[in-house]
Amino acid sequence: MTTLARSGKKATEPLRPEPAAIIDVITETPDIKTFRVVFDDPEVMEIFSFLPGQIGQLSVLGAGESTFAISSAPSRRDCFEFSVMKAGVVTSALHELTAGDRIAVRAPMGCAFPTDEWKGRNIVLVGGGIGMAPLRSLLLHLLDHRGDYGDITLVYGARTPGAATPGTGLTGKHALTSASLPPSTPPAPAGMAASDWSLQFSRKKRHHRITPSP
Ligand SMILES: Cc1cc2nc3c(=O)[nH]c(=O)nc-3n(C[C@H](O)[C@H](O)[C@H](O)COP(=O)(O)OP(=O)(O)OC[C@H]3O[C@@H](n4cnc5c(N)ncnc54)[C@H](O)[C@@H]3O)c2cc1C
Repeated sequence: MTTLARSGKKATEPLRPEPAAIIDVITETPDIKTFRVVFDDPEVMEIFSFLPGQIGQLSVLGAGESTFAISSAPSRRDCFEFSVMKAGVVTSALHELTAGDRIAVRAPMGCAFPTDEWKGRNIVLVGGGIGMAPLRSLLLHLLDHRGDYGDITLVYGARTPGAATPGTGLTGKHALTSASLPPSTPPAPAGMAASDWSLQFSRKKRHHRITPSP
């Protein structure tokens, strides 16, 4: 576990469950939902930071606690996100929650991707299904620092071509594709987040179908 990403008064307390609220729930697929979360304490929200690949422990009162990758971009300061596949007791309880419901979060925990070491290199990300959750945070981070890296290639799969690939913005027939994001991605139009634009750009220009596994 690292405390590198946390600073300030509460820098050494990622083990403490912090009360938090779900502010939005996005249904990605029939069994995957993305939860937007904010800490109750504005000071905790202010100092909270994490690195791509780090995780959090989410507690649902009366159900238990489980581990999930933080799937949002570290640069996003207004909230943070978890993409959760329904599997058992805790994840089913989470899937019942809606905006305004309360949970507790222990974060950040775990190791991060060594993105500093990758600077100047071409990067290939390979993932699939709910395994895209930590890669989503990583991809958005790389796009936030687009000039630091060479070509970024995302190869990903989903169970069915109709299924969304959680949180990537790549859906429908693109769910079984690879996307290549060249350094020459044009600047985002005014008012659009650079990461959203890059994903849209890749969707239009850079998809190559790959063979799904049987
Ligand atoms: C580092 C890490 C990161 C992770 N990141 C994510 C993430 O970003 N998103 C995500 O969705 N998941 C993630 N996971 C997985 C997630 O932690 C688990 O899916 C979650 O803990 C399941 O908890 P649960 O209480 O819902 O399931 P449980 O109730 O513990 O059940 C888990 C599985 O075991 C089966 N099971 C339960 N009891 C029995 C039994 N008695 N006999 C047989 N089978 C049984 C259930 O049907 C289910 O398939 C991550 C895990 C780790 C370790």
